[in-house]
Amino acid sequence: MKFETKVVRAGIEPDPTTGAIVPPIYQTATYVLEEVGRDKGFDYTRSSNPTRQLLERNLAGIEGAKHGAAFASGMSTVDAVLKLLSAGDHVVSSDDVYGGVSRLFDQILTRQALTFTYVDTSQPDKVREAMRPETKLLWVETPTNPLLKVTDLDAMAQIAKEHGVLFGVDSTFATPALLRPLEHGADIVVHSTTKYLSGHNQLIGGIALTDDDELAEQFHFLQKSIGAVPSPTDCWLTLLGVKTLALRMERHSSNAMRIASFLEEHPKVARVTYPGLPSHPRHEVAARQMSAFSGMISFELTGGIPAGRALLNRVRLCRLAESLGAVETMITHPATMTHVDVPREERLARGLTDGLVRLSVGIEDVGDILADLEEALSAV
Ligand SMILES: *Cc1c(COP(=O)(O)O)cnc(C)c1O
Repeated sequence: MKFETKVVRAGIEPDPTTGAIVPPIYQTATYVLEEVGRDKGFDYTRSSNPTRQLLERNLAGIEGAKHGAAFASGMSTVDAVLKLLSAGDHVVSSDDVYGGVSRLFDQILTRQALTFTYVDTSQPDKVREAMRPETKLLWVETPTNPLLKVTDLDAMAQIAKEHGVLFGVDSTFATPALLRPLEHGADIVVHSTTKYLSGHNQLIGGIALTDDDELAEQFHFLQKSIGAVPSPTDCWLTLLGVKTLALRMERHSSNAMRIASFLEEHPKVARVTYPGLPSHPRHEVAARQMSAFSGMISFELTGGIPAGRALLNRVRLCRLAESLGAVETMITHPATMTHVDVPREERLARGLTDGLVRLSVGIEDVGDILADLEEALSAV
């Protein structure tokens, strides 16, 4: 099956009792046993649920993975990956990770005696240098949020293999439509399904995908033991969203390419970062491992913070909102919104300046989005 077919069909068969083309929502907590010791494969929804199982099989099919485990959010998915580790273990992580991920690592997991070293994973030598005997996980986000740093996954897989550590990739920004990290040697891929996979700002969810039977078993054990699982209805809504993933990612990517080029030419814009622009420092790597460049752009205005604030308050079509990856174009100010919990010193050290603006380009008509930005920029 080609990718465009998989997103519509993977793992989905007509409902065996009615023939319904859309699978039913099994909104149930428990299942009646036929007799003592004999169930129909399901006993309690925290452990497993038919709608969730369908989503896990669907997303595994799309990613080209053997197994999937769905969680209640992208964050609980990342947390599940980190729960594979034990006190004393060390993690080498991309420095520009999602704000919630740094909060989880630095404010919660360090209290449970895990240690973290943040490096710019777009520079493989720095990753190699950061490895220690107690390192158990290499954690990479590509492209990153919000600086859109791109990491060479083949190079990372090589380093992870040399050191015998697990290699996990948060591929939320790329989606399996544009990048499939397992094909580049990752052991685990996670997505916040809240973003492009569900695609319509309708829910919070996450998925962990792997080819490894033992890791998959551990993820299912964590689902059952902790219960950070998505509701059957959210699983069903995600299944609906995924069907248009291939189409949406094409449009997100082509719209973003046009808008990034427009911003790069604009006199009031000091700097644009988009992996599809030849000016991006890792454009070549992105072009090699991704089939298009997704819908995320970050940029800085020449007028700094006041200009950024004016722009954010002036746009109309672009929605001033946290989150990304949905059909609506959304604009955010990382310093006061998504990354407010990262201390200012650390933010600045990471290149996350106060004037940085992040744009999640939607699938609206590109001319309408350009007109909105043009109008707002003229007022800055
Ligand atoms: C949003 C996001 C997360 C967290 O996902 P939630 O579904 O909001 O919990 C993790 N990583 C990345 C890259 C994200 O964009």
